[in-house]
Amino acid sequence: MRIDLHTHSDRSDGTDSPTELINNAKAAGLDVVALTDHDSTEGWKDASKAATRAGIELVHGIEISTKLDGKSIHLLGYEFDPVNKALVVELKRVLDGRNSRLPATLERLRSLGIEIEAKDVKRWATNAAAMGRPHVADALVELGVVKNRDEAFDRYLTPGRPAYVDRYAADLPTAIGLVKDAGGRTVIAHPWSRGSHRVLTHDRIGSLKDVGLDGLEVDHNDHSEEDRAALRQIAREFDLVRTGSSDYHGTGKIGFDLGCNLTARDQYERLLKR
Ligand code: AMP
Ligand code: ZN
Ligand code: FE
Ligand code: FE
Repeated sequence: MRIDLHTHSDRSDGTDSPTELINNAKAAGLDVVALTDHDSTEGWKDASKAATRAGIELVHGIEISTKLDGKSIHLLGYEFDPVNKALVVELKRVLDGRNSRLPATLERLRSLGIEIEAKDVKRWATNAAAMGRPHVADALVELGVVKNRDEAFDRYLTPGRPAYVDRYAADLPTAIGLVKDAGGRTVIAHPWSRGSHRVLTHDRIGSLKDVGLDGLEVDHNDHSEEDRAALRQIAREFDLVRTGSSDYHGTGKIGFDLGCNLTARDQYERLLKR
């Protein structure tokens, strides 16, 4: 069974519509695919319809922007109630935070001599719940400033680079509680990517299990073989589910193809069928 539990559509910063994403997942030979847009469940409805038509199992998911000790951590949530009041309020705060930092980002780019306006970014986020850095990156590509999203992040948009602007993110333990209270399951996305190993230590992961964490995304392209082995060991020790996923973004992320990492069937069943 081919199971991929982390993908994005154009409801956040992927490039496929939810329907295209499902059809591409089917074509890639997946049996189960989770749609996990950033901080939004807007794509669930179209994805469900497409999944029924295509004969593929859809897992309803989300990837929530959170923070732990000031460091950005992404939390995957699955099969929760999408109209749960407390969760909806918190997600709106995150989405508003992403939109409201855009003027400051553009101001910084302009101070570097790049002529860019909000409308240049908006057209890359037509279907998206909020405008994020990847949409700014798309605009920079179109303006000929950089050649792809990765270069835009490396030169301008990642923390420490000149056009990076901080924004609101949910507190990680709080976000785990919100998803759990809404009846869902929680998995930390790419726990050790971009320096997160400094805050997500062995002991800290254990304490997150105590507040309701269900699993760790062990197999992800951001992790080396050594990271994967160490995370697998930690997951075993704390009895956390181990997942593997592509983090597919359509043409927005090179080398993160559907099914490039997979979740084992027994782990999937432990996570979502118990
Ligand atoms: P935002 O939510 O607006 O802060 O943008 C964050 C999103 O940008 C992440 O969820 C990734 O999809 C993408 N991203 C973050 N860092 C990079 C990077 N270094 N290269 C490419 N994409 C990135
Ligand atoms: Zn993304
Ligand atoms: Fe992520
Ligand atoms: Fe992601």
